[in-house]
Amino acid sequence: MISVEEALHRILSFVDVLEAETKPITECLGQVLAEDIYSEFDIPALDNAAMDGFAVQFSSITGATPHRPKVLRVISDEIAAGSITDREVAPGTAIRIMTGAPVPKGADTVVTFEDTDEKERRASASESSLREVGIRQEIPKGSNIRWAGEDIKKGRLVLNKGRVFGPAEIGVLASLGKATTSVFRRPVVAILATGNELIHIGNPLAPGKIYNSNSYGLAAQVLRYGGIPKLLGIAPDNFSFLVEAIHQGFDSDLLITSGGVSVGDYDVVKDVLAKEGEINFWSVRMKPGRPLVFGVFRDKTGRKIPHLGLPGNPVSAMVTFEVFARPVILKMMGKTNLTKPTVKAVLRSTIQNEDGRRVFARVKVVEEEGNYFATLTGSQGSNILTSMVQANGLAIVPEEMRMVQPGDVVEVMMLGWDKPQN
Ligand code: AMP
Ligand code: MG
Repeated sequence: MISVEEALHRILSFVDVLEAETKPITECLGQVLAEDIYSEFDIPALDNAAMDGFAVQFSSITGATPHRPKVLRVISDEIAAGSITDREVAPGTAIRIMTGAPVPKGADTVVTFEDTDEKERRASASESSLREVGIRQEIPKGSNIRWAGEDIKKGRLVLNKGRVFGPAEIGVLASLGKATTSVFRRPVVAILATGNELIHIGNPLAPGKIYNSNSYGLAAQVLRYGGIPKLLGIAPDNFSFLVEAIHQGFDSDLLITSGGVSVGDYDVVKDVLAKEGEINFWSVRMKPGRPLVFGVFRDKTGRKIPHLGLPGNPVSAMVTFEVFARPVILKMMGKTNLTKPTVKAVLRSTIQNEDGRRVFARVKVVEEEGNYFATLTGSQGSNILTSMVQANGLAIVPEEMRMVQPGDVVEVMMLGWDKPQN
């Protein structure tokens, strides 16, 4: 039996970041940028109005007050966002301007409508009154102008290779006019359920049989962490059928099987890996999930396909996925932060650890007045899948700790949370 760290280290040393692909930015959420992004122009491209108002020269409005407004001559039509004027603002003149419109030559300040008498002038409805505007307030020079390049300077490195795409990164790429970008490919993860007892969902249940639930929980986990699940269905506990089914996963980046890795008469997954591929380790010092096999198959071209043989019990399959398969997917996608966020929580239950394995106990964490508290979600049998439904975290009990009790502080890996990436 090897430790969780040793197992993870061995698995990760087999996998590399996948190739980059170019795709529409709308499809890149959660993927990792595979190129440095530079800006080919300033953003904003031109000085422009931050508010609706009048473009003026500061010198024309100095000393303006509500009682002694500075009256300026309004020249030209208003400038809307998207259009440019060649009229120039001179001392004593103003041009009506809308938010986002480029500031005309000569102007250095934008006075918002609220600081002018334009509303009263409009109400008076005389054409001539609109040819002038009274400025009622001296405001600092440069007010309400967004300067060219104040967000992004031309030539600047805007997003680094390795950056994980969130909504803001995608928005920034769009503001640079980029429709596509280069990201590291998402891994295709083949999922095969094994067991003579398994029935496809949607079919009637026969006596002694159970539905294959692992494939679906695992596929959802693959999706959650950014992989593309490829369901291979169910293989019976039979060597040659299993070999055939496993071959269907040879075009994937990672092959995950569930079941068939214990020491029972029908546990043939291990045998297949030993004969047709290469076993790296079998059995990890953890609970649940002791019977876990890792190795590699090679396809006809010699390409290696890493194989994680997860235990069949549904909770064990999900927990070992979180601990071992999730980091594989993240690494293949080019992510460097492979850990889940953890919190320190005060335990409200007792967790026994009889045989020196690392325990991952299903807990529900609540926050009360800034402190976290964790309670076991009922029976910890590795077949009790509903205990995973109740849980939002896995409390980690170290190998050497015999028991943790109410009041003890434990580290909890938060399943539903994501750690911020770079
Ligand atoms: P195994 O590891 O094959 O010995 O399976 C351990 C337990 O998990 C047995 O009770 C199996 O019936 C159950 N099991 C195995 N595969 C699945 C699956 N795909 N869906 C639900 N339960 C399963
Ligand atoms: Mg089985």
